[in-house]
Amino acid sequence: MSELRQHAEEIAEQFSDQLDVSPDEVEERLENLVTEYRVPVDEARRSVINSYLDDAGMEREELGRGGSEEVRVNDIDEDEQWVDLRVELVELWEPRSDAIAQVGLLGDESGTIKFVSFDTSELPELEEGQAYELTNVVTDEYEGRYSVKLNRTTGITEIDEEIEVGDNAETVEGALVDIQSGSGLIKRCPEEDCTRVLQNGRCSEHGQVEGEFDLRIKGVLDDGEEVHEVIFDREATEELTGMTLEEAKDMAMDALDTTVVAEDMAGDLLGRYYRVSGPTLGRYVLVNDAEEPGQIDAEAALVKARSI
Ligand SMILES: [Zn+2]
Repeated sequence: MSELRQHAEEIAEQFSDQLDVSPDEVEERLENLVTEYRVPVDEARRSVINSYLDDAGMEREELGRGGSEEVRVNDIDEDEQWVDLRVELVELWEPRSDAIAQVGLLGDESGTIKFVSFDTSELPELEEGQAYELTNVVTDEYEGRYSVKLNRTTGITEIDEEIEVGDNAETVEGALVDIQSGSGLIKRCPEEDCTRVLQNGRCSEHGQVEGEFDLRIKGVLDDGEEVHEVIFDREATEELTGMTLEEAKDMAMDALDTTVVAEDMAGDLLGRYYRVSGPTLGRYVLVNDAEEPGQIDAEAALVKARSI
């Protein structure tokens, strides 16, 4: 987004309750002032805002910060929204491009989100571990993942506060409609810090290795409106299926085939309705807790039946 476009969208948003102005129209007026009349951007912005204030019969003080409202990072689920954040800078990464001034993770109680600030925005540098109030940052979406962009209009205020950064926990539910490949009894690369799942005994990074057995389910929950991809780790899988890693190994040994484990699990679990919660990682929910709401209702009904 160009700088003028950013200003235009913000101005249009500020007047969205009072006037019917489109970002395109505002951008055109800014563009005209800046390119035709060589007016500095800040002045052009002021001038355009003043003329809209006149149109709306408003005083400058009545003008809020527009569409920017304070949100939790884990609640961000729309592209190109202007928002305010109260966050701690969790970590900085090495920028991969000269155009990027800073890139890293911001966090609040709800979780973390990637942020980017650009060189051209000439913002003060943010420091790891420091908490900030950030106004006028813009949300961005790429392949279902959200981030925020700081820009020239972003306000940065250091705040003296400890922020307990959350883990983007979410609760999703639906019928288990698919158990994906790489589920059941799997082997992981034993190399330190690798743990990649082996394909035919090979790690994509370390080649042929002696793998270590693990249990996992990569599943898809469908609630009729949305699908959610969920991952049950060994503990969650054992709890869900009632099958331990040792039992799974025995089953595979008897059949001389590891795929029987996933098939057995699929037979038991597919079509059942689950509600699961846990931290999110990209598009996956890593399951900490799973329950079958139907099951709970059935139990409650039994209790009730007994009490009559
Ligand atoms: Zn490996």
